[in-house]
Amino acid sequence: MPATVTERQKTGMLYFMLTYLRERLQQRRQQSLYRRRLIHHTPQSPLLCIAGRKYLNFCSNDYLGLAAHPRITKALRDGAETYATGAGASHLINGHSIAHHRLEDVLAEYTGRQRALLFSTGYMANLAVISALTERHDALFMDKLNHASLLDGAALSKARLQRYPHNDTVRLEALLEKSTARHKLIASDGVFSMDGDLAALPQILPAAQRHNAWLILDDAHGLGVVGHSGRGCCEYYGLTADDVPVLVGTLGKAFGVFGAFVAGSEELIEYLIQFARSYIYTTALPPALACAALEAVRLAGEEAWRREVLYQRIAQFRQAAEQCGLPLSASPTPIQPLFIGDNADALAISRKLYEGGILLSAIRPPTVPAGSARLRVTLSAAHTPEQVDSLVEKLAAAFPPK
Ligand SMILES: *Cc1c(COP(=O)(O)O)cnc(C)c1O
Repeated sequence: MPATVTERQKTGMLYFMLTYLRERLQQRRQQSLYRRRLIHHTPQSPLLCIAGRKYLNFCSNDYLGLAAHPRITKALRDGAETYATGAGASHLINGHSIAHHRLEDVLAEYTGRQRALLFSTGYMANLAVISALTERHDALFMDKLNHASLLDGAALSKARLQRYPHNDTVRLEALLEKSTARHKLIASDGVFSMDGDLAALPQILPAAQRHNAWLILDDAHGLGVVGHSGRGCCEYYGLTADDVPVLVGTLGKAFGVFGAFVAGSEELIEYLIQFARSYIYTTALPPALACAALEAVRLAGEEAWRREVLYQRIAQFRQAAEQCGLPLSASPTPIQPLFIGDNADALAISRKLYEGGILLSAIRPPTVPAGSARLRVTLSAAHTPEQVDSLVEKLAAAFPPK
């Protein structure tokens, strides 16, 4: 029996692995799908400093401009003074502090639910909900444009996944009708993250009710932004906790901090605490982050002007972009995609804008379906009207592609 691996075997193994990785990377480059990270030196804000140069930023999810709010920064600092850094353990061992617990109470109240449960990320909250609520004889129905984390939840689940075309509630109803599953669960984004439009809840809800299906709403981009007081898609459509029994929200977008939560009934939350693996087998958030998030939720409620300003910027952008003949879509939210189609074209425009000092991401497959590459503009209450004008001017100059 050979006790040690020879140098040759090692080199061989590494050689085959690296060859494979290089091929895959090369493919990505050829398809104009290669991704790079920008390194910036500033807080998240409309102006980002990259390699010594300032860029106008239209790609963050900081819709309310809370990511750099001094009161939230102070809450984080004070939280660190009180609780120091690490939670030290998972929630079920001894990582669950009063800071986490208070935030859960505030989130339950904010969403009009009995309880809320904190997660480290929205990604993990979705894995939890989808995988813990389903078993082999169940069926999951998902919009084709749902966020990747809902799909990944389905991959962890033994339930049968059926996907319906975007907001096609006739097709959804047909699938529900045919299904003989024990439990039927419908999961949808509230605001679709790459399109900016809302789930057709006024049609999805009656379909769910007719077929006894449970509705799971991931309102990552809706909470804080959509609805009269920013309570999200449920508020926008006048839906209650009875209509949408499982609500997922994130704290890293409109709330400008980090973390996520599931809100719902007492039983749902207790069930997740017992059965959700992405809740159980992971370290709790640093408590200071919970202090910061709590302040952010308060501010989102108190400073209603942030939503008003945001919607002014959205209206301004849409009007100016329409006048310039830019390929707008029907989005009523701060997510304003401009459809291009071809990956290389989208990338070329995004690069041209970058040279002109504007940050705007080219969203390409697999984030969006093949052939639907787009530029995704996201607006924030922190943008000034002049910054929005400047964006449209530079966009108009960069179109048509090439
Ligand atoms: C961003 C996002 C998530 C993930 O939330 P994180 O807290 O960033 O992990 C989940 N769902 C949707 C629809 C999102 O846009």
